[in-house]
Amino acid sequence: MAREIRTFGDPVLKAAAAEIKDVDDKLVRLAEEMLVVMYEAPGIGLAAPQIGVQKQLFVYDNDGVTGTIINPSIKESSGEWVYEEGCLSIPGLYVEMVRPKQILVHGWDLDGNELEFEADELWARLIQHEFDHLHGVLMFDRMTPDQRKEALAEYARLQEQPAAPAKPRRLRLK
Ligand code: ZN
Repeated sequence: MAREIRTFGDPVLKAAAAEIKDVDDKLVRLAEEMLVVMYEAPGIGLAAPQIGVQKQLFVYDNDGVTGTIINPSIKESSGEWVYEEGCLSIPGLYVEMVRPKQILVHGWDLDGNELEFEADELWARLIQHEFDHLHGVLMFDRMTPDQRKEALAEYARLQEQPAAPAKPRRLRLK
């Protein structure tokens, strides 16, 4: 049974997730379940806290390549890139946000292999967004005070309206 995506206001989204010590079958099944939820949403990334699991992992679809990253860290970042970012836990809201353009990522995959790779633009944005979820940080926390005020008001307006049809072909970062 698919789990529900937690939305803004749920305290689980503000808590830091625990580091994962062992990659076992249970974790593999969790990642499989998360991918189902992510694709159903639909989104291109989903972090475990978004379905209420306080563990440091996220799943992604990077331009058709699917995977899981465990205990991610961002070792270096550079440049700036503007992107209209969205979040499955803040449905309907898209805000142009500046974040680093390139990052150096460290983590592990589901086979227990250590990973270290560079990412840029959308792929880097996805990882930074999911990384934030693992530390209880939401898009609102990354906004300037003016942006946040406007975005919170916009989100409140969205909550009052009946669900709008999804915008076509819009990428949503989970
Ligand atoms: Zn998100």
